[in-house]
Amino acid sequence: MAKNYIKNDEPKVQKYRFYVQILFVIISLWIGYEFILFTSFLESGGATTFYERPPGVEAFLPISALMSIYYFFLSGNIHPVHPAGFFILLAIVSVSFAFGKAFCSWICPIGFLSEMVGDFGDRFWKKLFKKKFKMPRFLDYPLRSLKYLLLGFFAFSIFVSMTELSLKYFLDSPYNIIADVKMYYFFAEISQFSLIVIAVLFVLSIFIRNFWCRYLCPYGALLGIFSLLSPNKIKRNEISCIDCNLCAKACPSNIKVDKIKTVISDECSTCMSCVDVCPVKDTLSLQFVPKKKKVNGKYVLAGILAIYFGIVGFAMLSGNWQNEVSKEQYIIHYNQMNSIGHPRSTADIERLNKEAMK
Ligand code: SF4
Ligand code: SF4
Repeated sequence: MAKNYIKNDEPKVQKYRFYVQILFVIISLWIGYEFILFTSFLESGGATTFYERPPGVEAFLPISALMSIYYFFLSGNIHPVHPAGFFILLAIVSVSFAFGKAFCSWICPIGFLSEMVGDFGDRFWKKLFKKKFKMPRFLDYPLRSLKYLLLGFFAFSIFVSMTELSLKYFLDSPYNIIADVKMYYFFAEISQFSLIVIAVLFVLSIFIRNFWCRYLCPYGALLGIFSLLSPNKIKRNEISCIDCNLCAKACPSNIKVDKIKTVISDECSTCMSCVDVCPVKDTLSLQFVPKKKKVNGKYVLAGILAIYFGIVGFAMLSGNWQNEVSKEQYIIHYNQMNSIGHPRSTADIERLNKEAMK
């Protein structure tokens, strides 16, 4: 290791990333609280005060949002049932185009929870075995492909199997309209089996950092693909690098940052942990590759927030945030909710739509 080098005195980004993560956790909790009030109105059959359904809940319906985007692509129309979901997914994909898979490490509340559990797990392992646990490579690679298999299944079901008409039928269907309410009751009245699955994932995340995100999340897989197209990449200056290995040790995605010149990986979440720990000035940085220009951490922060809230703000101002489902329609669908299953075919979707209109 070289003895003399200019110390990296750039401001660290992790503190700001943490604030952004907390901001999105608070937004998610607020949406959850408002949604509980909305469901209490539905439970009363419309007898109590009406609470507006928070459109932000559609962030938790990514498959429906993906269908909406494909429907827009085919028809040129924004489907009116979950327009907020359409714009939120658009915002998340745009963030990925600009700053890689930054959604996972800056915005996603599940990613934040996973990071907290992973930090706890690292401390636990270090205390017991003096080092972090790492999944052996021969298991890591096949497991990482699982999320792509899940994504492939959804992509095939939507982009190959569905036409503009069948997409419209699905998006209009009572199942899609009430999907957020169904999702709420899935968690509010969680079955023993689902609870066991969540507990297993939680425990696995203590031992294997980001278990859900790294191996199973199809959302992360989708964003990982878009992130490869991002012009901003982590770059290492091989000349000034002192081979201290701190960047690789800090990387939550187990990327060997200290051995490569440019990080081109679907697992890099632009968390900037590696950049923050690098002790040598101008050695590791996020760079706008086409211009070979360093991107300062504060621009990453400002860029992520500007893209995300810019697109969400546009949706709100252009009247594409609230959906067009009336409270009376919600009450009807709520009362029939237990008999509304996932449509299996276009004919099935058509039949459900007709029944709902009777
Ligand atoms: S390479 Fe750097 S920015 Fe990418 S995930 Fe690893 S630590 Fe984060
Ligand atoms: S790039 Fe990585 S290995 Fe090189 S000096 Fe920075 S932290 Fe150390």
